[in-house]
Amino acid sequence: MNKIILTGLFLVSTFCMAQGPNMEDAYKNVEKKVIEWRRDIHQNPELSNREFKTAAKIAAHLKSLGIDVQTGVAHTGVVGVLKGNSPGKTVALRADIDALPVYERNDLPYKSNVTSEFLGEKVGVMHACGHDTHTAILMGVAEVLAKNKDKIKGNVKFIFQPAEEGPPPGEEGGALLMVKEGVLKNPDVDAIFGLHINSQTPVGVIRYKSGGAMAAAQSFTINVKGKQSHGSQPWAGVDPILISAKIIDGLQTIISRETELTQEAAVITVGKIKSGVRFNIIPESAEMIGTIRTLDYDMKAKLNKRMEEMVPMIAKAYGGEATIEIRDATDITYNNPELVTAMLPTLQRVAGESNTQTQKAITGAEDFSYFQREVPGFFFFLGGMTPGNTESFPHHTPDFLIDDSGLLLGVRALTEMSLDYLNRS
Ligand SMILES: [Zn+2]
Ligand SMILES: [Zn+2]
Repeated sequence: MNKIILTGLFLVSTFCMAQGPNMEDAYKNVEKKVIEWRRDIHQNPELSNREFKTAAKIAAHLKSLGIDVQTGVAHTGVVGVLKGNSPGKTVALRADIDALPVYERNDLPYKSNVTSEFLGEKVGVMHACGHDTHTAILMGVAEVLAKNKDKIKGNVKFIFQPAEEGPPPGEEGGALLMVKEGVLKNPDVDAIFGLHINSQTPVGVIRYKSGGAMAAAQSFTINVKGKQSHGSQPWAGVDPILISAKIIDGLQTIISRETELTQEAAVITVGKIKSGVRFNIIPESAEMIGTIRTLDYDMKAKLNKRMEEMVPMIAKAYGGEATIEIRDATDITYNNPELVTAMLPTLQRVAGESNTQTQKAITGAEDFSYFQREVPGFFFFLGGMTPGNTESFPHHTPDFLIDDSGLLLGVRALTEMSLDYLNRS
């Protein structure tokens, strides 16, 4: 063999380091287990902040791999740290583990028949958002990486997060609490990756968006104060219902006239309005509640500022008073553009170039955003729709279904992203 061939071989072997023959075997061996774990978790779903059995299974698996495990993080979260054979940066991988209060309607051998109590009501419990697949995929990634520690330069932190769907009222939980409890510290996380399965994206396809991928969700409450009078004599009072209508109108002009919608989408929705008791009484007050969705930090700040200015001024213009309170629910799922650019070749390698597709922003929210507020992160979507199907049921519904054959790509993607990120650093 001459020198050129040797150099060529060296380059090829370096390039293929992450996906060498050992890795292929590891992926092949883990797929069956991932599907088994997924079905077991699917059949035994647990609601937010109540993921006790799920957490125990995860912890036992990580321990069996020789990974350092911390349990009880943010109530029921499990965190594992795998140290590679040589020192380097730390990458975190996150899977959410909670289920939803939904009665499953699918006819499956591993269908959930679990019931529980939610807000004082008996409910079915179902993995109707696919977090069972996220959990199983990350357990699979942990197994593959733990058996290939020699390929890891640095550390991989596995974050199994409770309560992504939101903790029960009055409780803390989810990503925000995990961050508060220091999950991104010791070792300090340099970058974080996560995925969400999607029932309406075909198996084999990965979709992503750089920048704001999912919206920040905020809620707001507006209290309008008028002056009560007889319905036949509006001049004797101040009508809070009319003021509410003007406020709703004004809020929508913030979106339609003041927001640069070609840059990112933005939404203001008034979801409830409560006022009055009788047809011939102009009431004293009105209350409105609603939600704000934004995909850009500056737009979010501007929208909030304009709402706070406009609401009291509109009320004043009609002789009344109004206050507005805006509360953060979830931040923007913001994919760091440099990190996306750096990791894209990895996704294209594992899924194929034509199967790695860009997608539009989603006005739904995801609490992975709280990790991304602290460290650069990349959150993408993994296809879970049965090959050949053209439609399927959406998330959070009783007929929601994910095809197991899509899970291995999730294992490959997170594993290879971790190795490429660490070994390049
Ligand atoms: Zn969900
Ligand atoms: Zn979800």
